[in-house]
Amino acid sequence: MQAPFHPNFSASTVRGMGRKRARSAAKNVFAAGFAPCLPVGMRETFMRRAIELARIHMHNKDGGPFGAVIVQDGEIIAEGWNEVASTNDPTAHAEVMAIRRACRRIGSFELRGAELYTSCEPCPMCLAAAYWARVGTIYCASTREDAAAHQFDDDLIYREIALPIPERTIPMVMEVLRPEAQAVFDEWDRMPDKVPY
Ligand SMILES: [Zn+2]
Repeated sequence: MQAPFHPNFSASTVRGMGRKRARSAAKNVFAAGFAPCLPVGMRETFMRRAIELARIHMHNKDGGPFGAVIVQDGEIIAEGWNEVASTNDPTAHAEVMAIRRACRRIGSFELRGAELYTSCEPCPMCLAAAYWARVGTIYCASTREDAAAHQFDDDLIYREIALPIPERTIPMVMEVLRPEAQAVFDEWDRMPDKVPY
């Protein structure tokens, strides 16, 4: 367990005094009544939890090594981890699971102002989910290149999205029964009691 971050103890200060001394000095500062954590240190605390979830649930064989937490007003309101293998759900990524739990918990389909901490840069699906949820900020530990180096497809999907539709791996056949589908949009427009989002 590392000492929590404190503004009085910058990285260089900690290096200078040695970890052990810095830790006990930090403890004294907290005992003296300083706020126990400030933003940068809190980020590390939340990210450490996301990484911990990745490790725990990977060893539980729930899925791949990915964890995420949703934070609102300085508090974790939901946690998620990859459950693809254990639930046979290819969309059960850590970020999606955390977003679902957070939304259920607060009773809203929006997480405005919330922070998403994820042990790895989100794949396009999870990034899109964060946009749909109107998450405020996303913090990442590993990058998509790190994931690709361990055979996770995130980077491939990012590259696919950037391609024109005809050049993508999965063929997409456009405009099948387009007018019939458009009619549903028209009905939506006319619905007086719809819930827009
Ligand atoms: Zn994902």
